[in-house]
Amino acid sequence: MRDIIIIGSGPAGFTAAIYAARAQLKPLLIASSVEIGGELMNTTEVENFPGFPEGIMGPELMTKLQAQAERFGTEVVYDDVVELELDGPVKRVKLGNGDEHEAAAIIYATGSAYRKLGLAEEEVLSGHGLSWCATCDGFFFREKTIAVIGGGDSAMEEATFLTRFADKVYVIHRRDTLKASKIMQQRAFDNEKIEFIWNAEIAAIHGTSAVTGVTLRDTVTGEERGLDLDGLFVAIGNDPRTHLVHGKLDLTPEGTIAVEGRSSKTSLPGVFAAGDVIDPHYRQAITAAGTGAAAALDAEHYLAALGNENAAEALLETEFVAVN
Ligand SMILES: Cc1cc2nc3c(=O)[nH]c(=O)nc-3n(C[C@H](O)[C@H](O)[C@H](O)COP(=O)(O)OP(=O)(O)OC[C@H]3O[C@@H](n4cnc5c(N)ncnc54)[C@H](O)[C@@H]3O)c2cc1C
Repeated sequence: MRDIIIIGSGPAGFTAAIYAARAQLKPLLIASSVEIGGELMNTTEVENFPGFPEGIMGPELMTKLQAQAERFGTEVVYDDVVELELDGPVKRVKLGNGDEHEAAAIIYATGSAYRKLGLAEEEVLSGHGLSWCATCDGFFFREKTIAVIGGGDSAMEEATFLTRFADKVYVIHRRDTLKASKIMQQRAFDNEKIEFIWNAEIAAIHGTSAVTGVTLRDTVTGEERGLDLDGLFVAIGNDPRTHLVHGKLDLTPEGTIAVEGRSSKTSLPGVFAAGDVIDPHYRQAITAAGTGAAAALDAEHYLAALGNENAAEALLETEFVAVN
């Protein structure tokens, strides 16, 4: 039986692995079979991860995190977890290839998925003018004309935030009223850089190497027209990847995994969660990495209490004093 199994290969999973591996806990990290490296594999330049003053490409950052985790003894398996048994002292993890692994502790870091428009161009243009994160990418659109798609609070927040950079921000919404709270709506209505396009959906995104515009389809009449743009932000929702733990772990009203206070402790002993799967608010690489570190330290503390000497020693070395 292993000490720790980590599920997920994003910033949260690999950071948890770096800490757990340095604590001599020889973690097994299940990376997934398709999206190894997590969400940052879908982007180009990351300019807000500390330590890289010139910025770093998303895939390169993830390769470095993996190398750092492996350097200290993390074993990475390129498969998907398909089933979990989490209650009881021995946690069981079943993979797509049929293999089963057991561990005393689990760190669950499966991230969340931004909802997509369902257009073929999305794969090609992601990170090239097409974005799901204003905080991450707004800076690249100084003095540009861009659009935000969506009608909820996050769409209003992103549109308002993006006016700090862009000259013009269209909000494209498929209905003629917004879902967003009144205060967020009013803030957007009052902003002279924002223009609303009602009853419209995106029929196509234009551009080969970067976004140059979209085809808008009127949701009432079906009429289509072109709109020139330098960038497009999709803000139509986000789904934490929790399907494997439904009915096993407590969730929050937002659908993220519920954790105790600022810790990574879930509703089951020995099961810890980190990254975007616990975070309905920030969803940044650095915050995911931070909670990954916390999850490894929480897991070390749990294992030390079970008599694991490596975990106990590692806690002493980091002079970590756990608050229970
Ligand atoms: C296009 C784009 C650009 C972004 N740019 C930035 C940026 O510039 N700066 C920034 O700070 N943030 C950025 N973000 C946000 C950032 O990527 C996320 O906040 C961060 O990756 C979350 O890390 P995570 O480890 O929680 O999850 P993720 O990165 O989503 O990783 C989760 C991993 O778990 C794996 N997984 C899921 N289910 C299973 C399973 N059953 N078995 C095995 N593995 C599984 C997934 O395949 C994935 O590899 C961007 C996001 C997107 C989509």
